[in-house]
Amino acid sequence: MKVFSEISEVRKCRWRDASLNWGLVPTMGLLHEGHLSLVRRARNENQKVGVSIFVNPIQFNNQQDLVSYPRDLERDLELLRKEGVDLVWTPTPNIVYATDFQTFVEVERITRPLEGKARPGHFRGVTTVVAKIFNVFQPHRAYFGQKDAQQAVVIRQMVRDLNFNLDLITCPTVRETDGLAMSSRNARLSPAARRQAVCLFRALTAAENAFHAGARNAAKLKSVMEKTTEPFDKARIDYISVAHPETLDELTAINEKALLSLALFIDDLRLIDNLILG
Ligand code: AMP
Repeated sequence: MKVFSEISEVRKCRWRDASLNWGLVPTMGLLHEGHLSLVRRARNENQKVGVSIFVNPIQFNNQQDLVSYPRDLERDLELLRKEGVDLVWTPTPNIVYATDFQTFVEVERITRPLEGKARPGHFRGVTTVVAKIFNVFQPHRAYFGQKDAQQAVVIRQMVRDLNFNLDLITCPTVRETDGLAMSSRNARLSPAARRQAVCLFRALTAAENAFHAGARNAAKLKSVMEKTTEPFDKARIDYISVAHPETLDELTAINEKALLSLALFIDDLRLIDNLILG
């Protein structure tokens, strides 16, 4: 496994044999089974696999969140070695953003609600860095998690709008045995908060059960989710949404499919999760 921080080294390795197909998994590190599921899928579908590990400062609207974002590069590299990854890019912020950096990629309408509303500037940072990572690796396929549902939709829009020559693959959310979606941020939960973090998945599954029992009214499903979180005294709702899975417009009633998503603070830590209904 080759590990480089310099862009020229990554490119040299990527193009050593131009006939080979590359799959790419962009990450911010502190890898868990969710990330590794994307790596394994990339491994199965491509001759070569690249991973980027970069905590992207411009997608954090909260400096404290950036500073306390958990990192462990040595452990990450060990995990990726075991998965048979070929190339890892581990740039520093000044490799990605030169001092005179001034070009950003911004997807408009679908970045406004949900995470975009709660975290101003977040998606502008995400699409800018993902566009750069795509340009550095020029992969045939890129793998993202359904865990970050809006991110996957936004990147799909960017790929279409800017004609990136690659296939985007969205992979299912990997969960702990109690249902909590795996996330690098979970490492920062205290044991008591960790026990309460299950309430995101509980809320989603309660709404899903109501949907299966015939509920189609979005307000009804949101109220089921709210009620489910009530007994969890460390949980504070940031938003609960029932939206169209592609346009991300809020729905009043569900005809076919809906993206059910929520963001909660558990103590001071903000967690997100989602399910597709229908
Ligand atoms: P991150 O390191 O949080 O930026 O995540 C890197 C990629 O892994 C993104 O495409 C995420 O959506 C994906 N990912 C994170 N957590 C999970 C999970 N629990 N299951 C599946 N994919 C995930």
